[in-house]
Amino acid sequence: MNEASNESSGETVSFGYENVSPEEKTRRVGEVFSSVARKYDIMNDAMSMGMHRGWKDRFVKRVKPQSGERILDMAGGTGDIAFRMADRGADITVADINQDMLDVGAERAMDRTETEDTGSLVFSCQNAEETSFASNTFDAYTIVFGIRNVTDKDKALREALRVLRPGGRFYCMEFSTTEWAGFREIYDVYSEQLLPRMGQMIAGDADSYRYLVESIRKFPSMPEFERMIAKAGFVNTKYESILGGAVAIHSGWKI
Ligand code: SAM
Repeated sequence: MNEASNESSGETVSFGYENVSPEEKTRRVGEVFSSVARKYDIMNDAMSMGMHRGWKDRFVKRVKPQSGERILDMAGGTGDIAFRMADRGADITVADINQDMLDVGAERAMDRTETEDTGSLVFSCQNAEETSFASNTFDAYTIVFGIRNVTDKDKALREALRVLRPGGRFYCMEFSTTEWAGFREIYDVYSEQLLPRMGQMIAGDADSYRYLVESIRKFPSMPEFERMIAKAGFVNTKYESILGGAVAIHSGWKI
């Protein structure tokens, strides 16, 4: 069962394989990312065997950030996507609900080499469901490996539409379910059994990585999530699958 149908069945939402109240989900997701913040980047490399870097490069290529554009990178965490977009001259607001993740991002930003063409970076603690940004503010909205952690995804999508200017573009990259036979079985064993062990070894935290794997399983399929984006009011929605759908890039436009 996917998370969307689960959520519509009552007052509970899924936190991994558990059903909890919306408030508890938000609190526990906060605990997960506070716990992993300092090891988040090294774990990303280990878990994806470095592949997340290529996916992120591909994602930013799709977004096509332009010099002087204002882009909101929601659930931006430690800044991986924001830095790539600032390097192309766009002015980025990195927003995240978790201050520990943003603190790591701000520290990384200070160590970066900037040129006169590098766009600006601002870090802001925000809940994707309800932000403090004015309507029609941003040229583009990005959210990468973030939306599956948001408690009310429909609300977050409507908020993305609100803060985008007319003509603005929405891009989301998220894990999904691979449709490649054979690879799927290997991926299942890897994610269910190996990832929590790696989380324990590298970050001293198996439970957080177990949640991350379970949250991927509960996330809507690519067509279902595309329908959610369209329902929020975006047009020309589409998605591109990577590794048979293990990862997907979704996009849409505000008119
Ligand atoms: N985008 C970054 C990347 O790709 O490396 C970070 C992704 S990390 C897996 C997920 C992020 O989503 C965490 O930093 C978490 O704090 C953030 N997050 C979870 N719920 C959120 C919410 N309701 N609003 C904003 N950010 C949220």
